Amino acid sequence: MKRIADGVWQLEIPMRYNPLGYTYSYLLVDDATLIDTGVGTGEARSALKDQLTKAGLKTSDLKRVILTHLHRDHVGLVDHIKTVSDARIYAHEKAVEILREREARDKSRYEEMREEMKRLGGAGLLKLLSRFELAFRRRPAPIPIDETLSDGDLLKLESSRLRVIWTPGHAPEHICLYDMEHRHLFSGDHVLPQITSHVSAHTYEKVDPLGDYLNSLEKLRGLPVDLVLPAHEHEFKNLEGRVEALIRHHERRCREIKEALRRRKCTVFEVSSKISWDSRPWPLMPFWIKRMAAAETLAHLIYLRNRGEVEEELRNGVLYYSLK
Ligand SMILES: [Zn+2]
Ligand SMILES: [Zn+2]
Repeated sequence: MKRIADGVWQLEIPMRYNPLGYTYSYLLVDDATLIDTGVGTGEARSALKDQLTKAGLKTSDLKRVILTHLHRDHVGLVDHIKTVSDARIYAHEKAVEILREREARDKSRYEEMREEMKRLGGAGLLKLLSRFELAFRRRPAPIPIDETLSDGDLLKLESSRLRVIWTPGHAPEHICLYDMEHRHLFSGDHVLPQITSHVSAHTYEKVDPLGDYLNSLEKLRGLPVDLVLPAHEHEFKNLEGRVEALIRHHERRCREIKEALRRRKCTVFEVSSKISWDSRPWPLMPFWIKRMAAAETLAHLIYLRNRGEVEEELRNGVLYYSLK
């Protein structure tokens, strides 16, 4: 754990099977408030307990947990914290909608995934998907949200003031929290110092996540910030520079995708196999990473389609994209 400023601690909550290694939860000691919780494992639970103790608190003392978004590595200990304390759980109002939709959809999640793989041109990988059928049929536990937040809200806690900035893109319900007094930005997974946030689209959702993400980056421009406190990697100073670099990254990726479509129309999997990936070359990617990469490619194709730069066509249940 690391002391960031008076009363502000960065807690390291381990996640063993994720290459990122940790989720950082941030503890505002005087407000007995935690921003994000980390994953829901026994190891994470002890790590939280030990680090709270070092900061002079018990888990049962917590009054609030503010969630930047609903991904598992951010909400895993909510149930545990609710069980042992009177903490109230805060999240963006969109989170409630997402949870409701998830509840209504869950039964067909595996079928939906199968359908989506075919649509993206990945029918050849369906056998690999079937290995994970059980995991997909398991329902994720609901997350009890007590207080909803809206863009621009000012959260007046006992000793801090946090401005809520709604930053959809990485997740539709994602928020950053801005502490004006310390000039800190708790950026969740929206802006990370080295890796680009995963921005993915699904064929069963009528949304433009990359368009949202880029707008959400623009929203942070000009914000007086001395230190960015992300949920992974490490804290950093130059928010403006990082925002600029991320926007350039997605512009480059869009150009690369259009280049891949120059000769002929392609499925999403075909486009994904033709562009460069930071992690490893396409043929060496395990099935899961390929699926995530295809979902990122789809987010870019939807973005380009909505801006009139590529054309989308559904033929025999498979999506094809071509240059306009
Ligand atoms: Zn996330
Ligand atoms: Zn995360």
